[in-house]
Amino acid sequence: MAKKRLVSGMRTTGSLHLGHLEGTLKNWVSLQDTYDCFFFAAVWHAFTDRLKIDNLPAIIDEMVIDWLSVGIDPEKSVIFRQSSMHEHAELCTILSNCTPLGWLERCPSFKDDVRDEDAKSRVSLGKLMYPVLMTSDIAAYDGEFVPVGKDQLPHLELSREIVRRFNGSYGDVLKEPDAVLSQVPLLLGIDKRKMSKSYNNGIELRETPDGLKAKVQQMITDPQRVRRNDPGDPEVCCVYAYHKIYTPDRLEEIAQGCRTAGIGCRDCKLILYERLNNMLEPYRCRRAEIESRKGYVKEVLDAGEKRAHAIASEVLQRVRQVMGFSS
Ligand code: ATP
Ligand code: MG
Repeated sequence: MAKKRLVSGMRTTGSLHLGHLEGTLKNWVSLQDTYDCFFFAAVWHAFTDRLKIDNLPAIIDEMVIDWLSVGIDPEKSVIFRQSSMHEHAELCTILSNCTPLGWLERCPSFKDDVRDEDAKSRVSLGKLMYPVLMTSDIAAYDGEFVPVGKDQLPHLELSREIVRRFNGSYGDVLKEPDAVLSQVPLLLGIDKRKMSKSYNNGIELRETPDGLKAKVQQMITDPQRVRRNDPGDPEVCCVYAYHKIYTPDRLEEIAQGCRTAGIGCRDCKLILYERLNNMLEPYRCRRAEIESRKGYVKEVLDAGEKRAHAIASEVLQRVRQVMGFSS
């Protein structure tokens, strides 16, 4: 039986961190076996909140290399750049006209952005249109599924409504995408806030062992535990939050050691460092191998974009036809 098609993208705003790995990439890797996956670098979406991205070509390449190094497989999945696909832009222009402004203004993420007084002079039209472009990204491939966390469900619901509105006028032309709900575990940054590029609190996938060690050493622990002999509370410690994910087999021992001051923060961090380092090592090896193959990323993107164009151009042909654009 043919696999159902799944579409997902990631904004090209900088280096990928462990939050991306845990929240998105591990899920993508496992989805590849069940779905016909289309994964793209969401280049245009990255510009919705900035005018310029320095070294964009390198950011895109590095992101794709990170995807490949964790197991996104170009033999199984179509990997491409949104910015190479004029079909998305054309569909976005069309779909923007069947999207009432109110739907976009009510979108929770947009409401968050325009909370303060001068927001309207700061927030771009592109930001408002974010869900329309996202709908176009999916619909251009007859995407049937989109992996989303609970917090992104309103965006997907909006996409479904936009497609329904278009189809309401033209018949069953575009596919209404469904959610593949994924548990997105929220990974904390080294300062205990959500790990985020904007907070500069991330552990990057391409961290060297020394860089990783330095990051783990900076992690916030229980502030009450000042001296080695002070007992600590693991539940308020960032390092322990990581142990819950990466050291499940020694969790009890670590919690007990912290509470009784049997183990110091330095040793506790060393255990974590070793776990994280062992986890990242195979990715590093694969990355080194990919980087040694000159021109490989370009090859992957060229092939992906060829496959993507073949499908998107058919979908757009269908849209042009029903709207009366094609001769
Ligand atoms: P920015 O600071 O520019 O918002 P970011 O570091 O928060 O960047 P995004 O591009 O917003 O990264 O994240 C893309 C996707 O990666 C998210 O939708 C989410 O699925 C996943 N992700 C990002 N950060 C985390 C995190 N800390 N924990 C779990 N998942 C995350
Ligand atoms: Mg973010």
